[in-house]
Amino acid sequence: MNIFSEVKEHLTARQAAEYYGLKVKRNGTACCPFHDDKHPSMKIDRNYHCFACGVGGDVIDYVSRMFGLSQYDAALKLIEDFVLPVDVKKNEGLNAQEKERIRKEKAEQKRIMHIQERFEKWCSQTVDILKNCISEIDSVNHFLIGKPPDIIFSEDYAQMLHAEPVINYWLDILCVGEVSERRDFFLKDRKKVEEIAGKVCTGRKRIMGCSRGSA
Ligand SMILES: [Zn+2]
Repeated sequence: MNIFSEVKEHLTARQAAEYYGLKVKRNGTACCPFHDDKHPSMKIDRNYHCFACGVGGDVIDYVSRMFGLSQYDAALKLIEDFVLPVDVKKNEGLNAQEKERIRKEKAEQKRIMHIQERFEKWCSQTVDILKNCISEIDSVNHFLIGKPPDIIFSEDYAQMLHAEPVINYWLDILCVGEVSERRDFFLKDRKKVEEIAGKVCTGRKRIMGCSRGSA
């Protein structure tokens, strides 16, 4: 058994969190200390998880995050603060294991950074696409002023009018939304963005093109 599993054997995330000042409610929820939490979004017991900002892990992870320590130093801190019967000396031979753990942690952080970058790029590209949709709809609105009803009342135009509030809502999320909202949007609706942008674009071409032909 290594130092990490020994510490976890003795302590839950909740015990440590309460010791370091977190107020945990009877039902095991607490205001997350890792983001500006107004209502308890964190569930904490053996492990912890915040449903708002997404952080989570075990007791060692909690302490490492709380105090900005490496996992190893967090384990040492817990051993010291709780006077745990864990023989650190005996564990020093496990340094290779610790190094491997750090290496894996770093690789994981790199991976997350990469995902983060791609996500940010997607957000800004999507803002451009959606703004472009709005201006295409505007140009169709403008184009249809004074046109006969049979041209105005097309399926394409109906779809555009239907899409406009959705597009504005999405723009709100991307421009002023919380990270969690943007992430949900990315996970759930990114296909829909392509779909609607495609419809707006072909709709505009059909409306403005076909009427030009018949005029
Ligand atoms: Zn949180």
